[in-house]
Amino acid sequence: MKKRAIVAKPTHRTAAADASRVPGPLEHATFVTGATSPAQLPSEGAREIAFAGRSNAGKSSAINALARQHRLAFASRTPGRTREVNFFRLRSGGLVADLPGYGYAAVPEALKRSWQEFLWSYVTTRSALIGLVLIVDARHGPRSLDFDLLDAFMPSARPVLVLATKIDKLNVAEGRDAVARIGAGLRERFGHIGERVSVVGFSATTKRGLAEADAILRSWLE
Ligand code: GDP
Repeated sequence: MKKRAIVAKPTHRTAAADASRVPGPLEHATFVTGATSPAQLPSEGAREIAFAGRSNAGKSSAINALARQHRLAFASRTPGRTREVNFFRLRSGGLVADLPGYGYAAVPEALKRSWQEFLWSYVTTRSALIGLVLIVDARHGPRSLDFDLLDAFMPSARPVLVLATKIDKLNVAEGRDAVARIGAGLRERFGHIGERVSVVGFSATTKRGLAEADAILRSWLE
């Protein structure tokens, strides 16, 4: 008896679905350079999106998830020691700036202060910067240094995406509450400009929130 070719149809359907998938805005990003001082920042021109967050919040994992790569952004082996702003080039021609994590307790105070000044001045003076992605642990929400950074950035009228990450560590109801609480806290602090902040529950592990984050970042880059 002749064997039926049972695999042909599903395979074609899968290939067609893959071909029609719109790639994420960070997909195929490539490393460009690392800057340790304002003088080393790449010249302004291309639209830039910065990723910021406390050390260990999950920033490298979030960038890698958005880029669909495993090792584009490196998790620092010694938290708080990374002293570079790493830049990645997007297919759109835009740039992603991966800002060093802040708030790690073991970093000497003077070093912490000077590095934070660099970060704060970057987000307030960089005119190519079109939006800020703030990574916060969904279980804790934004903490004081996150609020300091938002205080510096928000008056610039540019949008903010808060990725409330590690949401897989909460159950569905807790995750929903955490996202709502973070949004309410930001609206309370920033009043009507708080409306420019989107809060997305995210997990680099389960990829929850990935499509929503992709759509927001795509809208910024268009
Ligand atoms: P960074 O210091 O902000 O770049 O943080 P990392 O991306 O290096 O993540 C810090 C730790 O949190 C690592 O152990 C990650 O495996 C873990 N992590 C990051 N994102 C997630 C997530 O979405 N879910 C879970 N369960 N763990 C995560």
